[in-house]
Amino acid sequence: MFTPRARVPFRESLLAWFRQFQRDLPWRRTKDPYRIWISEIMLQQTRVAAVIPYYERFLERFPNVQALAEAPQEEVLRLWSGLGYYSRARNLQAAAQQIVARHGGEFPLDEESILALPGVGSYTGAAILSIAFGARRAVLDGNVARVLARLGAIRGDLRETKPWQSLQKTADELLDPQSPCDWNQAIMELGAIVCTPRAPQCLLCPVNKFCRARQSGEPESYPAKRKKRDAVQITLAAAVFWTAEGKTLLLPPPRAKNGKPAADDVATLVSRMWHFPTVAVRENPPEELRSFLGGILSSKNGELSLEPLGKVRHAVTYRNVTVLPFRARTARLPAIRGAKRIPLKELSTLPVSNLTRKIGRAALAELAHAVAKA
Ligand code: SF4
Repeated sequence: MFTPRARVPFRESLLAWFRQFQRDLPWRRTKDPYRIWISEIMLQQTRVAAVIPYYERFLERFPNVQALAEAPQEEVLRLWSGLGYYSRARNLQAAAQQIVARHGGEFPLDEESILALPGVGSYTGAAILSIAFGARRAVLDGNVARVLARLGAIRGDLRETKPWQSLQKTADELLDPQSPCDWNQAIMELGAIVCTPRAPQCLLCPVNKFCRARQSGEPESYPAKRKKRDAVQITLAAAVFWTAEGKTLLLPPPRAKNGKPAADDVATLVSRMWHFPTVAVRENPPEELRSFLGGILSSKNGELSLEPLGKVRHAVTYRNVTVLPFRARTARLPAIRGAKRIPLKELSTLPVSNLTRKIGRAALAELAHAVAKA
């Protein structure tokens, strides 16, 4: 993309900008590989502002690898609850356990051991190696790829193997060998706050004079948009048990099944965490929910009265989920193997998905209102 001679002023411009204008973020105040690793995993697919409070709470509770490795998984998931993509939390703990078992609790220093950790791919590995240890490894994720594609006016689907490999080669060539830590953060920062997907701020960009997409007059049109997968509509029905004392009932985290789950797989949609009794429905939601409950209740509860509550909508990647919550009216909470009985308003003391939180919040507002009116 640039000749070796042109790389020098390019690097100087970007690094000078970063050193002057970088955001003050908690993970930029440390070189501890454990803390950098946690931040990189949390930042995957998640905005910085959303990550900061989770990052701080998580590290307060698990200040080192040992603490994370030894914690109950439920506690790890509870502290992740609301951040989404829960396999990240499960992988983090599995990786911490691997570090304790194979590396005596010390974060490994070599690339091979870091890449062998669950949930650590080439991007995260390069970020940890360069930021914590100053290693010459260039990061390449979606943000960096977009910046590089614009600088070189490259079009097409960057995630295809060949373009991606070519971008990795470019990223490796551009990496500042004297400051790989600052360099990687600088190019990520540029993609995050200046060269944003829809509205690149070329006038404020420290490397605008090097950019071919800007010269074209339509920088935002690079690279070409990725084709979106068609959205799938899913309808679920959920039973919200509610006693006079405001208690409800949640089912335990479902086990992972073998093979690829269906789009409306409830276990996936509730992120394999505590959840309201829920079933995917098609034609007659209350009847389908009643039949589902009949299959899991360990005792006969007679005819369950199911009263519809307000709909809840939720989007996960390509799935548009509509949940139809029903108040399940019974004198006493039924017996269901492994279920937990808790006050509905204390839902967030358990690890639950965003979907379950939304159902709980909506139901609580409606039921509390009904009680106040009675
Ligand atoms: Fe991105 Fe514009 Fe800077 Fe080019 S000039 S890198 S398009 S912000």
